[in-house]
Amino acid sequence: MSPEEFREHGKRVIDWIADYLAGIESHPVRSQLKPGQVRAALPPSPPERGEPFDNVLADLDRVLLPGVTHWQHPNFFAYFPANASGPAILGDLLSAGLGVQGMLWATSPACTELETVVVDWLAELLGLPEQWRTDARGGGVIEDSASSGSLAALLAALHRAGRGDRNTVYVSSQTHSSLEKAAKIAGISAEGVRAVDVDPATLAMRPEHLEALLAQDSADGATPSMVCATIGTTSTTAIDPVRRIGEICREFGVWLHVDAAYAGVAAVCDELRWINDGVAEYADSYVTDPHKWLLTNFDCTVLWVADRAPLIEALSVVPEYLRNAASETGEVIDYRDWQIPLGRRFRALKLWAVLRWYGAAGLREHIRDGVALAAEFAAMVRADEEFTLLPHHPFGLVCFRPLWRGLSDDVADEATGAMLQRLNDSGDLYLSHTRVGGRMLLRMAIGAPLTGRDHVHAAWRRILAEHRELRAELTAASRMCR
Ligand SMILES: *Cc1c(COP(=O)(O)O)cnc(C)c1O
Repeated sequence: MSPEEFREHGKRVIDWIADYLAGIESHPVRSQLKPGQVRAALPPSPPERGEPFDNVLADLDRVLLPGVTHWQHPNFFAYFPANASGPAILGDLLSAGLGVQGMLWATSPACTELETVVVDWLAELLGLPEQWRTDARGGGVIEDSASSGSLAALLAALHRAGRGDRNTVYVSSQTHSSLEKAAKIAGISAEGVRAVDVDPATLAMRPEHLEALLAQDSADGATPSMVCATIGTTSTTAIDPVRRIGEICREFGVWLHVDAAYAGVAAVCDELRWINDGVAEYADSYVTDPHKWLLTNFDCTVLWVADRAPLIEALSVVPEYLRNAASETGEVIDYRDWQIPLGRRFRALKLWAVLRWYGAAGLREHIRDGVALAAEFAAMVRADEEFTLLPHHPFGLVCFRPLWRGLSDDVADEATGAMLQRLNDSGDLYLSHTRVGGRMLLRMAIGAPLTGRDHVHAAWRRILAEHRELRAELTAASRMCR
């Protein structure tokens, strides 16, 4: 593709993206395709001769788009948001254009140094400790996902603790599954992953139980290696008591990892800084995902460590072919030593573009909009006597369910599931679900950049209508049974 051809097709691609985002509401939120439909519409073998780029765009419209679930749709309320934004898309495109592989400082100094600048900037924006800045003992690094960031943190923690016969890791039933997976990858046995109880009302980790498990395991000769506390759990955005957990970790000399993948970025707002209480004093590592709620296209996770030495010692391997003068001086950072893979994309560009385009004020406004809309939605659910909701946390997620009075718990949960399926099949909106105390709950996660007040109110009306209809059907069916 010559530069002239690239220019021509590139302009068309940018137009395509702009049109797509401008017209996104014309699509059903969740793809309506059945398994195998996309594959069946594509040739089984690659072309022998090159084709015009227009053919790719035509198939994008014809074959792929129906198989796309529209995460940027304003009625996408499932999982957590995966924000995209103009500056992030353009930053990512520039990264693709440069085609840099930034494994070492020497393989592209700007890739490394810009990353250092943006992770330090973000630490400042989130009010994270000075000690985590790269010019102090700590430092941040951009990883592909919180899962990888937590795995890297676990390897650092195991390095510091020393490998014993029995390394143990402490999570709760609400901890993200990536921690269990990280333990598996790190060769920790299933019994070595210790489940700390949660408070049944708040779903937050119970520090007394953590303390008891640590005392017991230490006495039994295990090597407690890492505790993971979560700020904003995936299921319900519960918040573990980080300060108290940190005091216990200090007492036992155990690494404290804080998983704030979704909620951590909310700390750009002063009024939400309290979520990080205890982090500065006690956390050894911390992850948050600008690729969820901070307007930065996937993938972009930031992992910070309070002390970078154990991370680098755990992950640094230097083969002859990567030796270079800059690395030998020790004056530069080689981020390959801070992550699992060797190679790395120039991800800092998109985060830099986002931070510059929106500024701190713009980021705060985005988070505040989501928080306010979620609070408004929670208030509507609370006011309806046919519904109940979990205690609402100050982020973008509301967990709720219809009460289905008169139905047994099992039948009620089936009805909630049926209602969810109908809503999602309709393509009008997309919600996900969770289970708490055995009961099925709907998750309404607000935070897509295009979601406004009208979308949230329309979603609630749509949910009410589906509930009314299903309720009527259930009543008719139970009359027939009698
Ligand atoms: C989403 C989430 C993760 C996983 O994040 P990825 O970046 O997709 O790996 C981990 N922990 C929590 C609390 C999350 O919400």
